[in-house]
Amino acid sequence: MPVLKRSTSPLLRRGLPAFLVLLAFSAPVAIAASGPGGAEVPGQPLVSSIACPLQPVGSCSAGQLMTVRGSNLQSAQQLTFVGSSPSRDNVVVKLSARAAQPTAITVTVPSRAKSGAIRISGTIGSAVTAPQPVKIVAGLPATDDASGSKKLIAGGKRAAHFSYRVSSAVAVGARVEAVSGKTGKIVRSWPLVKSGDGAVAWNGFVGEEPAASGTYVLRLNELGSASAKAKAGSDTQFEMLEGFFPIRGAHTLAASEMQRFGGSRDHQGTDHFAKCGTPLAAWTSGVVQFNDFQGAAGNYVVVQRADGQSYAYMHMLERSPVKVGSKVFAGQRLGRVSDSGSASGCHLHIELWTAPGWYKGGRPYDSLPLMQRLDKLN
Ligand SMILES: [Zn+2]
Repeated sequence: MPVLKRSTSPLLRRGLPAFLVLLAFSAPVAIAASGPGGAEVPGQPLVSSIACPLQPVGSCSAGQLMTVRGSNLQSAQQLTFVGSSPSRDNVVVKLSARAAQPTAITVTVPSRAKSGAIRISGTIGSAVTAPQPVKIVAGLPATDDASGSKKLIAGGKRAAHFSYRVSSAVAVGARVEAVSGKTGKIVRSWPLVKSGDGAVAWNGFVGEEPAASGTYVLRLNELGSASAKAKAGSDTQFEMLEGFFPIRGAHTLAASEMQRFGGSRDHQGTDHFAKCGTPLAAWTSGVVQFNDFQGAAGNYVVVQRADGQSYAYMHMLERSPVKVGSKVFAGQRLGRVSDSGSASGCHLHIELWTAPGWYKGGRPYDSLPLMQRLDKLN
């Protein structure tokens, strides 16, 4: 189907029915595809509102998920932050098929976006401009670490909570959804209760794997917001940190000088004591680089992340079931804490190495600050 770039269709101005407009602009093949009666022919796109989580209507911050509501938006191909000076500070966001739905377009606000009009283009009859401009405000910065929002880890003690009250008949398909701020994808969703109060608690897992790190939003989908309202205190926006706390039981965290990184013995890792046999899980997703026994390390496994960093887990009770070259996900069982190799007392000796990885040109660095951060949320 041809993409129309003109800003106003003369046919639309004359008020011809949308079906005829499509006939005028479409190749015959496209008409045949729309079927008899033209039931799939869209009308003119309209924009009604712009909103971002935790902001007054019309205000958004870089990195946030912005929802543009309206109608007939499914064929939109790009969204432009027009800014204040004509064309010079335009920031264009290309829309995937998933981002452009009939009644809503969802995009992550780019860091360069400026306050100003929002223009949607690529639709039939082409560009439409939102009735109100968007105001780009500081406050919720784009980077994950600086977001200041609630921080969670998958499988941690604190889930993301979303509670709501149903006020009218709940439509089939009304759901609470968890949306990634990075990709705009719905990663999980839950049907609404039929009446009264409902609540969702999300532990950060999608199937058996933790969700990717980054900002997430819990919200009612469009059908859901037609019949229910979110309650105050819901975690409408939060940050999922990467990783899974590896020691799945009571433990200490590098409790003495000897157990810390570096020091007089030039310790390449950190030591964390736990009861012998405590389950051990992968901190991070990656590919198994090594799974072996060595006199000092005992039973050990090295997992390399996609960015080339390596995580080495040592002194395990037995050889890990994971295969070299296979993928593991954060939270996947690697083995059990023990004292195999050269160790006095059952503990996890863990090493973090920069890219390109463990004894492949990287260098070890101190894992304790990261372990402490994860442990607080665990
Ligand atoms: Zn050690």
